[in-house]
Amino acid sequence: MLNAGCDASNASSIAHVMALAERDGCRSHGIFRLPGYIASLGSGKVNGNAHPRVMDAGAAVIRVDGDGGYAPLALHRGLPALIDAARSHGVAALAISRIFHFAALWPEVEQLADAGLASLAFVASKAAVAPAGASRAFFGTNPLAFGWPDREGEHLIFDMATSAMARGDIQIAARDRQPVGVGVGLDSDGAPTLEPQAIIAGGVQLPFGGYKGSSLSLMVELLAAGLLGEQFGFEAKQSDNGDGGPTRGGELIIALDPRAFGDADHWQTHCQSFFGTLMTLDGVRLPAQRRRQHRQQAVSDGVELPQPLYEQLLTHLA
Ligand code: NDP
Repeated sequence: MLNAGCDASNASSIAHVMALAERDGCRSHGIFRLPGYIASLGSGKVNGNAHPRVMDAGAAVIRVDGDGGYAPLALHRGLPALIDAARSHGVAALAISRIFHFAALWPEVEQLADAGLASLAFVASKAAVAPAGASRAFFGTNPLAFGWPDREGEHLIFDMATSAMARGDIQIAARDRQPVGVGVGLDSDGAPTLEPQAIIAGGVQLPFGGYKGSSLSLMVELLAAGLLGEQFGFEAKQSDNGDGGPTRGGELIIALDPRAFGDADHWQTHCQSFFGTLMTLDGVRLPAQRRRQHRQQAVSDGVELPQPLYEQLLTHLA
């Protein structure tokens, strides 16, 4: 990232989120993203020397101007202010604009859970998904994440695209010549397909769960774009230069301090008992369990880069 034109603060914050993704086995948002990060610096779309600015620190709504850079540094600067504000007010929001988010959302809600806060995060991305009933892209894959703190650090966290499959995973399936599942996308004729390449090249992705996922995606557009004065997915697609990197947008994060909501003394024990009972049901696992297991393994065994990605990265360093 330094070679490609990032300053040290931006490069290290991006490297940090890529390393977190590799450590937790989230391959579609780890080093796999590096060529895209580099491409958008090379095309001049993203500011590698961004100085994100935190505004209104202390208020219940804190805004961050990302200065046209990648999201990690804006988050690094904004999250401590959000933590302070949520502790002061019980609930607070972080509204980040003018960023390029190319990563997973769980790192931000996990940082808030580490601080004892529950949270929700929303990002609207470039149009790639057909709303329920349509066969043309209009919504982004529009992820949302939820974090719920656990006193032992075993936070409940889920983080999901509102498309049936994340675009990065479809790209990985195309690279590895693997079919995708039913309901993931349509080809350029609007017909259902299991071919990842047909979805990426001229086709369209589908929301998960039909009209229900479609409504959640619509909500993310409004919260992460409409509310923040940022680009909707279809606008991001129109304005993008097609360099393979992310599009400009915003992120909304809402943090809640559980101590402020009426059960300050017992909420944690009560929720522990809820999780305990839930886990007695056969077949249930909690979101974030897979990541934590992968994390433990990666810390002892390291991570392995797929050979094609390794070779692709060498060409960037040449
Ligand atoms: P997945 O479908 O892989 O997982 C979604 C969530 O469900 C995870 O929290 C996962 O936990 C949990 N989960 C999976 N299986 C189970 C199960 N059997 N029981 C309970 N929980 C389960 O994620 P997506 O493919 O939808 O999204 C991948 C990533 O892409 C996300 O991190 C998202 O933020 C990112 N993304 C980023 C975008 C951007 O613009 N920056 C755009 C779109 C997506 P676990 O991790 O433990 O498996």
